[in-house]
Amino acid sequence: DATAFNNLKKTNIDGKGALNNKISEHILSHLNHCGIKTHFIKRINMREQLIKKAEIFPIEFIVRNISTGSLSKRLGIPEGTVLEKPLLEYCLKDDELNDPLISKEHIYTFNWAKEEEINEIDKISLRINDILTGMFRVIEIKLVDFKLEFGKSWNKDKKDTQIILADEISPDTCRLWDLKTEKKLDKDRFRNDLGNIIEGYQEVARRLGVMPVESNIKEVNFGKTTSIKFKNK
Ligand code: 5GP
Repeated sequence: DATAFNNLKKTNIDGKGALNNKISEHILSHLNHCGIKTHFIKRINMREQLIKKAEIFPIEFIVRNISTGSLSKRLGIPEGTVLEKPLLEYCLKDDELNDPLISKEHIYTFNWAKEEEINEIDKISLRINDILTGMFRVIEIKLVDFKLEFGKSWNKDKKDTQIILADEISPDTCRLWDLKTEKKLDKDRFRNDLGNIIEGYQEVARRLGVMPVESNIKEVNFGKTTSIKFKNK
């Protein structure tokens, strides 16, 4: 499914889940290798992953490198302004309230997370931004901004918890622009009715070297949009 604007816009896009599964597997495995603690254990099949259980903080952690989207709308910052340093924002995870922007003071006042937890998550988010910016840069994609979610998971001895990244990372959760043309290769194609949604996701998968293998996949052109049919489930 593709959803936007808190489910006000909804459709079904053939093959998007499988592409996101491969892209997210690739990115989370890389983060695991780099020492970032994530919920990702392994991809089980085309559509499922085995992940660690975590108690999710009710907060969306947004990292921005370039101004666009709600930041540009909210503060009138011109679209495409490159930020001097990454900007961290926090939103409350609440669809009914439209995931409102919140401050750290809101987080501490309402006990959505502790100060030391937010300090740790800020550090992890910036490290993830460094790693992913480099990863996308080599395939000529700009990492414009992205959303992360974190949770607490029990250590093996069940005596203590640790903070882990507990989210997918894919063109659904990141803004990805082609380095040269600034063509959008992410969910904004759906949000802003730009068409060829799946092509953007395929392009990201292709450049990352994780496009599902030819034997399992058949690309079909339906006029403007490209859809994928899987031979094997
Ligand atoms: P914005 O606040 O400009 O709409 O979004 C900032 C970034 O966070 C974008 O990369 C966007 O894809 C991501 N993002 C924000 N909220 C959500 C959400 O509820 N779901 C998903 N998948 N991504 C989100």
